[in-house]
Amino acid sequence: MKTPRYLVAVHPQRIAHRFTDILIIGGGIAGLRAALAVPESLSVTLITKDQLDCSNSAKAQGGIAAVLDPLDKFEDHVRDTLVAGAGLCDQDVVEMVIREAPLRIHELLTWGTHFDQKADAKTEGHISLSREGGHSYNRIAHANGDATGKEIVRALIESVRHRQNIQVYEQTCTIDLLTSNRECRGAFVWNERFGQTAVWAKQTILATGGAGQLYRETTNPKVATGDGMALAYRAGAELRDMEFMQFHPTVLYIAGSSRSLITEAMRGEGAHLIDRFGYRFMPDYDSRAELAPRDIVSRAIVDQMEKTKHSNVYLTLAHLDADYIRHRFPGIGEVCAKFGLDLTKDRIPVRPGAHYMMGGVTVDHEGRTTLPGLWAAGEVTSSGLHGANRLASNSLLEALVYGAHAGVGAAAAATQTDGLFQVPEIDDPDDTVEKMIPDETIVYADVQNALKSLMWRNVGVRRDAQSLSDAIEQIDIWSRFVYGRQFDSPEGWELQNMVCTAKLMVKSALERQETRGGHTRIDYPEQDPKWHHRITHRRC
Ligand SMILES: Cc1cc2nc3c(=O)[nH]c(=O)nc-3n(C[C@H](O)[C@H](O)[C@H](O)COP(=O)(O)OP(=O)(O)OC[C@H]3O[C@@H](n4cnc5c(N)ncnc54)[C@H](O)[C@@H]3O)c2cc1C
Repeated sequence: MKTPRYLVAVHPQRIAHRFTDILIIGGGIAGLRAALAVPESLSVTLITKDQLDCSNSAKAQGGIAAVLDPLDKFEDHVRDTLVAGAGLCDQDVVEMVIREAPLRIHELLTWGTHFDQKADAKTEGHISLSREGGHSYNRIAHANGDATGKEIVRALIESVRHRQNIQVYEQTCTIDLLTSNRECRGAFVWNERFGQTAVWAKQTILATGGAGQLYRETTNPKVATGDGMALAYRAGAELRDMEFMQFHPTVLYIAGSSRSLITEAMRGEGAHLIDRFGYRFMPDYDSRAELAPRDIVSRAIVDQMEKTKHSNVYLTLAHLDADYIRHRFPGIGEVCAKFGLDLTKDRIPVRPGAHYMMGGVTVDHEGRTTLPGLWAAGEVTSSGLHGANRLASNSLLEALVYGAHAGVGAAAAATQTDGLFQVPEIDDPDDTVEKMIPDETIVYADVQNALKSLMWRNVGVRRDAQSLSDAIEQIDIWSRFVYGRQFDSPEGWELQNMVCTAKLMVKSALERQETRGGHTRIDYPEQDPKWHHRITHRRC
């Protein structure tokens, strides 16, 4: 079944209209940074599906990677990123982002972000830098120990709130992008107060984050349902690398509780991974042991769980200095304490979970998508920085760099666009979801949970042709079901987006017959030079 262009019928004469120079969809670090890049002479409307502080950005723990130590080298950060990306990074993009990192950190400091400082008097005023898996040097700046994202988001929100030209609408769900003459002209949105509204914009920036919520086991908050990828796909933009979901190796696993990330920085500080028998297994899998890139550690954990017939493995920090660990990881210490676990003494049960989406909407160096008038930044994109596997702490950096570029680019384009606004004719107004199925109630949570379980079982850390074909068959059935009816609530549109994005992910995963980065095919266990290219999608 072909994905329809619009989830609801757009009737311009029956809805409210709003005009803005720049529309930004998403209020994580990418969206906030983009808003701050727009000159105050232009109006900005920024919308978020939930509260401003509910995002992957606000959850980020470990930190942000940048060459800040005089003994560190850009070349080494570039090399580490390329190695993790398993041959699919775009080297120009990697160079650009990494060389820009110190500037982006400096901007954050001027906006009031407090990074943790080195403790000794000689280096007072210097940012304390830690190390994470795949990095050859200590280059991760962090804040409040393990609450880096929250601190950066706090400072950015404060700066955004001070700008007269930026209007923020929270609890506002984007239903679809609006296009006219195959150019993006804004979005169709909904909130409780104004109902369905067409927001017409000279330029639109998509910053809707990732898709971890497509999986049963995930570190992502509830907003990460892959909406932006589905919106862009329906509007005709190109997407790529959709088979590459990064599974974080260490997610706290306590059955019945929500999953919490245990930051990689903990392994950077010397934590060991052990199995149920207390055996430290990582050196058997990779010479970098616990500091190997995430795909390797996740696969090793799943293997070890299978070998030991156990639902999880454990992290142990019992051999490290207890006072330092308490001070360094206060947030995670608190989470563990809720379950009666003492981070400094007990074995912490962990297993992998869906964490970061490497694929998404294709963007160029400036954040321009293939759809004129649409820009994108952050986790919703495929910029070429991460390739097949993101290096730890490179994604906050990407969100800042591309947020800044997209904001500047969209603002320049908006200035050149005619100032007069009128409601344009939209493309394909009749290509909407049909109301074929009678209006009986649908249990959204039931379909969502079934989809998440299917993705975890069949499209998880390890996949094969059979598991992926089964997943496609099942998703096709759900597609017909959820696209056969028009919904009038965010839960319904979210479900339709989840099904659309999941389908693209599974199709790519089936097509790529090799193992590379975050994509492990047990029927094709080797990396294959034949697949040294990207898989792209576009709704035709
Ligand atoms: C637990 C955790 C820890 C992490 N730790 C780190 C780390 O230490 N270092 C690092 O570099 N990266 C880390 N990451 C990854 C990093 O946080 C994200 O990749 C990055 O913050 C993404 O930023 P973003 O602005 O693109 O998206 P997000 O921060 O996810 O923001 C997305 C925004 O889009 C909005 N939105 C979504 N759909 C819609 C819609 N339909 N309509 C309107 N609005 C919508 C949401 O409401 C939200 O405001 C971590 C991620 C998690 C989950």
